[in-house]
Amino acid sequence: MPGLVVDVLVVGLGATGAGVALDAASRGLSVAAIDAHDLAFGTSRWSSKMIHGGLRYLARGQVGVAYESAVERGLLLGRIAPHLVRAQPYLLPLVPEVSRRQAALVMTGYRLGDGLRAAARTPRSLLPGPCRISSGRARALAPPLGPAGLRGALLSWDGRLLDDARLVLAVARTAAAHGARVLTRCRALEVSGDGALVRDELTGETLTVRARAVINAAGVWAAGLHPGLRMRPSRGTHLVLRPGTLPGLVAGLHVPIPGESDRFALVLPQADGRVLVGLTDEPVDGPVPDVPQAPEEDVVLLLSVLNSVLEEPVRREEVAGAHAGLRPLLDGEGRTADLSRRHALLTTRDGMVTVVGGKLTTYRRMAEDAVDLAVSSGRITAGPSRTAALPLVGAIPPGGRGGGHDDGHVGERGGGDGRRGPGRPGRAGASAAGRHGGVADRLVERYGGEAGAVRALMEREPRLAEAGPTGVTGAELVWAVRHEGALDVDDLLDRRTRIGLIPADREAALPMARAALADPLPTGPAET
Ligand SMILES: Cc1cc2nc3c(=O)[nH]c(=O)nc-3n(C[C@H](O)[C@H](O)[C@H](O)COP(=O)(O)OP(=O)(O)OC[C@H]3O[C@@H](n4cnc5c(N)ncnc54)[C@H](O)[C@@H]3O)c2cc1C
Repeated sequence: MPGLVVDVLVVGLGATGAGVALDAASRGLSVAAIDAHDLAFGTSRWSSKMIHGGLRYLARGQVGVAYESAVERGLLLGRIAPHLVRAQPYLLPLVPEVSRRQAALVMTGYRLGDGLRAAARTPRSLLPGPCRISSGRARALAPPLGPAGLRGALLSWDGRLLDDARLVLAVARTAAAHGARVLTRCRALEVSGDGALVRDELTGETLTVRARAVINAAGVWAAGLHPGLRMRPSRGTHLVLRPGTLPGLVAGLHVPIPGESDRFALVLPQADGRVLVGLTDEPVDGPVPDVPQAPEEDVVLLLSVLNSVLEEPVRREEVAGAHAGLRPLLDGEGRTADLSRRHALLTTRDGMVTVVGGKLTTYRRMAEDAVDLAVSSGRITAGPSRTAALPLVGAIPPGGRGGGHDDGHVGERGGGDGRRGPGRPGRAGASAAGRHGGVADRLVERYGGEAGAVRALMEREPRLAEAGPTGVTGAELVWAVRHEGALDVDDLLDRRTRIGLIPADREAALPMARAALADPLPTGPAET
């Protein structure tokens, strides 16, 4: 394999690394970005999928972090990824365990959060303000809430991602559109300020990548590449409930955790009808696993907090899946729940930049800061970041979602080396829009401006219109193989779609995924 020379080498393709690749490539720099596994293989796919305005940080007096979050949330909602980020209502049920004083304090916090929204210039039309609602209205938005002692609810709004892994994918594909070489299954074995020894995990071959700047965005694994860096990972577990387990749930819930005055469990209805329930915060010692496991004690704890506000308790056997992620926190004093979520930038003696910590919401700002630091070191020359004004692949302006509008970017198979990168956007027609009803709406939600191109696949090959578990169609899997760099069933079921969040659904979808991988590439005219 020949050596590679680039301006910027990015290690890690979670939200942060994909963001760095896009930031650097859109400044006109040549970029190679690698991941040992797949896009969004690490922590980025295990998040609560919230794009938050930083209320929790405000409560701790971290005003700068809170403001930064609010600004990034506004950019994602309004310009960068309006197809993937939406406003989501949340209820804090006023059950007897929530005192009037606590309710008043929380409402004050919500109002301050609304002030941050205004300071960040996010209009109310994108993110409505908070208010108190009656118990009747609360039960209309969340019918499973128990009526006993419910004296109403506090209603607030925040940003929510349709799917965290799809955000990473969209950022990486946009980077590829700006010329970045995005390579999965490539592990950095050794890194320095001017390059890395990289192993192709499919063939075992190694190659040297030479770069003017190297940016380590390996998340919770970053310390393995940066001498002296100490991390203190913290495990966050979510439960996954099947559609219908909490019937009629429209709003998310903030459920008070007994004994904790400012921490709440989250109940998060997903676009596919599943519901996530999170979220623990437990320090983890020892080696960092590739895929962390959710222990039974986390499942039991979350279930009991959830059941404290429900009329009909959810039984253990109704928990269809559970997963855990590790927060990439820097080591510091105190509980992991109290460690700062502000990101950190560190430079090794030989000039490698590590960007770590932070959160999904602020991935763009983290990336901008990391590239700015590399530029300020004089190793590379580039203008200022452009990403605040750069819509991601598939972005449709807010309000333009419902009508099947199609700006139709599609890619070729393979981005960088023609084999394993996510596709490079090109143009496609919108001729097939609108003939598949409910499926069409779902596709617009997941693919934004590319929905028409996915529908076109179904029209050309009707067998691909058949839906499997969770409503995902064969066309989406084939699309993921052809244009989103999916290489195996894990990529398809665990990251391009999230079927795998429920193991039984994953099992049922395996034949469909294998068929998509075996599907021949079109030999005729390109998909236009
Ligand atoms: C349970 C949980 C819930 C959360 N919820 C939210 C939320 O709702 N909102 C929010 O804003 N934030 C949330 N966060 C925080 C957020 O998810 C993380 O801060 C963010 O995803 C970290 O992204 P990253 O790209 O830095 O790391 P990762 O996503 O972990 O990416 C690192 C990548 O580096 C790769 N890698 C590692 N070593 C190498 C190597 N040697 N060579 C090549 N590649 C390598 C890995 O395969 C991985 O893909 C949550 C975190 C957790 C744990």
